[in-house]
Amino acid sequence: MRGEEQQRLLRRLPKIDAMLAALADAGPLRLARRIVREEVAAVRERILAGAARADEVSEEAILFRCRQRLAHWLAPRFRPVINATGVIVHTNLGRSVLPAEAMQAVVAAGEAYSNLEFDLATGRRGSRYSLVEELLCELTGAEAALVVNNNAAAVLLVLETLAAGREVIVSRGQLVEIGGSFRIPEVMAKSGAILREVGATNRTHLRDYEMAICEQTAMLLKVHTSNYRITGFTAEVALADLVALGRRHDLPVMEDLGSGCLFDVRPYGLTGEPTVQEVVAAGADVVTFSGDKLLGGPQAGIIVGRRRYIERIKKNPLNRAVRIDKFTLAGLEQIFRLYLDPSLAVQKIPTLAMIAQPAETCRRRADRLLRRLRRPLAGRCAVDRAEVESRVGGGSLPEQALASWAVRLRPAQFAVSVLEERLRRLPLPVVGRIEDDGLLLDMRTVFDRQVPSLADAVLTVFEQGDAA
Ligand SMILES: *Cc1c(COP(=O)(O)O)cnc(C)c1O
Repeated sequence: MRGEEQQRLLRRLPKIDAMLAALADAGPLRLARRIVREEVAAVRERILAGAARADEVSEEAILFRCRQRLAHWLAPRFRPVINATGVIVHTNLGRSVLPAEAMQAVVAAGEAYSNLEFDLATGRRGSRYSLVEELLCELTGAEAALVVNNNAAAVLLVLETLAAGREVIVSRGQLVEIGGSFRIPEVMAKSGAILREVGATNRTHLRDYEMAICEQTAMLLKVHTSNYRITGFTAEVALADLVALGRRHDLPVMEDLGSGCLFDVRPYGLTGEPTVQEVVAAGADVVTFSGDKLLGGPQAGIIVGRRRYIERIKKNPLNRAVRIDKFTLAGLEQIFRLYLDPSLAVQKIPTLAMIAQPAETCRRRADRLLRRLRRPLAGRCAVDRAEVESRVGGGSLPEQALASWAVRLRPAQFAVSVLEERLRRLPLPVVGRIEDDGLLLDMRTVFDRQVPSLADAVLTVFEQGDAA
């Protein structure tokens, strides 16, 4: 009996070729064939195990699952997201958003050949670094510069060039770890340089560095403790004092700045982030910083400093392994050009514009969103405005907040965690943050042009029904 029923179901299994013909418009044949075979095999196994229902075996049912899997497979994976977290340099959401000028340059670099490594004046081979070096020197006051893949690579490259096999003196209070497993002691080990820790976690004095200097010393390193603060009974040696010590012993002094601001954010209430210009002026021989943190550009590592060191760094074979690509370089050049006029930079570079944005602007944006949500959501979700605090993020300026406004959503029929998840799973995902019993959509990191899509996203989620 049982065997007969199984035979009957097995005979009903649709033919692979017929299904492939039906899926001809749903995706590439190779992919469709694999998915169809897997689906049919899975149903066959369920039949043999006596677990298949008659409705699973039909051609329509199997085709439906194949179509779903194909659509899922072909959907873009790397997608734009609406950042309503209020964290401006959000590493998980791609750090900085580029200004239109930079994006146009990126597209132009991809659409045609370029003078990436071709000197148009002489007709000879050129250097990709020369395209931004002059701008960087003008902006930072440094003698020379180069750019690499990211700041982690910049630190590794500088250490490998100037200190491999020799000692680098660092304060115990500056052995930082940043997100994504970048740790100073580990990068140092990979570079072949030997870490010579001095001082205590909370206090390091100039004499600690001085006493550690020996024949093996290659460099004095200062690391900007960008993502934490040591407070209380503390002491750190000022860069200028370290520079004077380095000069007396003919040792280079490097500062890993991390964020690397070319723009002074102090007028916006953010303290503790020195500008690159200040660090160069204080005499640092080599300074490294990120392209996509406070600078507001694409992912890159920027190295500026004295020519005698930068030239050695450029010639290091490791530099070839961490070199910057043409798209990044194209975007970065535009960012630097904007910085030539700080008033233009703060207007055009989204990261800076978001930092400079008064709370009042965030409040008006919240009101625009509220107007689109209140009536349609009446009875289904409490919608109001909340005063919140945004963060710069990206490991910059910890503990410092920017006053902002959010739209707060408190669904009546399901948990706030359900709302958060549904928004995250939309084709244009929205990421907010849950605080107490509400979902906050912080308007500081939402662009004006995104307000209508954000409202649509929220309304779509409520159209999905009230079941959890
Ligand atoms: C962020 C940071 C880095 C790493 O920079 P990436 O551009 O993310 O590679 C290195 N050092 C410090 C101090 C940082 O803050």
